[in-house]
Amino acid sequence: MSSPEPASAEARPVGFPPPDDQGSRRAKIVFTIGPATEDPETLRQILLAGGDVCRINMAHASHEWTLKVLRRIREAGEAAGRPIATMMDVKGPEIRTGDLDQTLHLEPGEIFDFTIKPGGGDGASSEEVRSVDVNYRNLVNDVRVGDTVLVDNGLIRMEVLEKDHSRIRCKVMIPGPLSSRRHINLPGVKVNLPALTEKDKADIHAGMKIGLDYIALSFVREAADIATLRDFLEEHRYQARIIAKIEDQQAISNLREIVSACDGLMVARGDLGIECPFEELPMIQRHAVRTCLALGRPVIVATHLLESMIQSPMPTRAEVTDVANAIFEQVDAIMLSGETTVGKYPVPCVQALDKIARRCEGGERAGFAGGLKLGSDRAKILRSAVVMADELHATGLIAFTRSGAMAVGLASMRPRHSPIFAFTNSAATFRRLRLHWGVEPFQMVFGAEPEHTIQKALATLLYYGRARRGDKVVVVSDILASDRLIDSIQLRTVE
Ligand code: PGA
Ligand code: MN
Repeated sequence: MSSPEPASAEARPVGFPPPDDQGSRRAKIVFTIGPATEDPETLRQILLAGGDVCRINMAHASHEWTLKVLRRIREAGEAAGRPIATMMDVKGPEIRTGDLDQTLHLEPGEIFDFTIKPGGGDGASSEEVRSVDVNYRNLVNDVRVGDTVLVDNGLIRMEVLEKDHSRIRCKVMIPGPLSSRRHINLPGVKVNLPALTEKDKADIHAGMKIGLDYIALSFVREAADIATLRDFLEEHRYQARIIAKIEDQQAISNLREIVSACDGLMVARGDLGIECPFEELPMIQRHAVRTCLALGRPVIVATHLLESMIQSPMPTRAEVTDVANAIFEQVDAIMLSGETTVGKYPVPCVQALDKIARRCEGGERAGFAGGLKLGSDRAKILRSAVVMADELHATGLIAFTRSGAMAVGLASMRPRHSPIFAFTNSAATFRRLRLHWGVEPFQMVFGAEPEHTIQKALATLLYYGRARRGDKVVVVSDILASDRLIDSIQLRTVE
């Protein structure tokens, strides 16, 4: 690529974040922030390595820490010239054990109590049956004798022997170490917790003091759960988009309505792999990705992509292949959890995802985008633009978008060769577009004249080496016809 043209005042709008150095990667990278990544220098390295969305997992975060890291993410984005999106992951109807002073090493066959009265979590009880508190008072009404209780991502397996109003007594079938605040799964049990808890609301209020681009809701079970969160956000005039995390069998049964209701989906393979037989997982992932692409929603594949890299500087062969599979499925984003919260190699993890994605993006495609249903005339115009760009091997598709919808529409059709250069006048849209497959966002001030704005965008791509003179680009924009703005597709040659 030729060296960048010298800047002219016209070509370089004020406050304009430069594009990523290495050119477009289509799939995006979500990383979860934690002790391993919260310091400003590591955060900077993660951004420069290509992290696109920073997730904050509210299962572990205090409000004070959340505000601190939200500020840091903003600052790091500005300092690195690469603002990224934030995603608050709220826990929804998640059941967790309480605090323990020390880790309990459970024995096979041991009788163990889950206590649902406050103060039960002292690791012992009067009957010398060890116990831990749970955060859900109604648990006794939801479980039946004989049900399976899985603790800490399924590592510990117990069976319910008996229950009364204050405790559930279990037998340990598969033992393991039990530490504080471990997640409990009840496969096949319909838990009557509200979709959005008081804690979730308090977490969102806290995060909104700085601002959030996405809110991921855990254990979404039906479309009404999304509506509950949407109503809450609207009531407070919060702008964040909603990501539905599908984590259990009920969500799979209601997949289509959930995908329609949300702004994006997360295939939460951690809990799915516990709540469902593991051999179902690849089928569920495919089905979820296909459904998202058919309905034009972004999809994130999460959990265990590079799990071994928590300890090791190199991924396993199986992990590399799993990541590649998600790339072939053309998912919008791949996500890191423990790898970047507590892992030893957070930056190499982001670099590994970046490398695998870039290597595999030119290769196989599952072609799920072909199933996209086009509703509106606007969608058909976007389809025509993508067909044109595909035929011409266009250097880029250029969209001008305030809300981001135009760029998201183009992305959902998964153009074969052309990155989507999305120009927006909104900082929030700019950040949000980081999540979407194939979209490279740019922020600029729109002029009153559409033609002037197009020229400014072309000059910008030229300036940053994203296009060269003589390249063909497909522009989707408004044009002024007499005094009316109409949608248009234009084939332009960069001059
Ligand atoms: P979690 O969600 O990390 O918040 O549990 C992701 C998953 O279950 O895979
Ligand atoms: Mn989960």
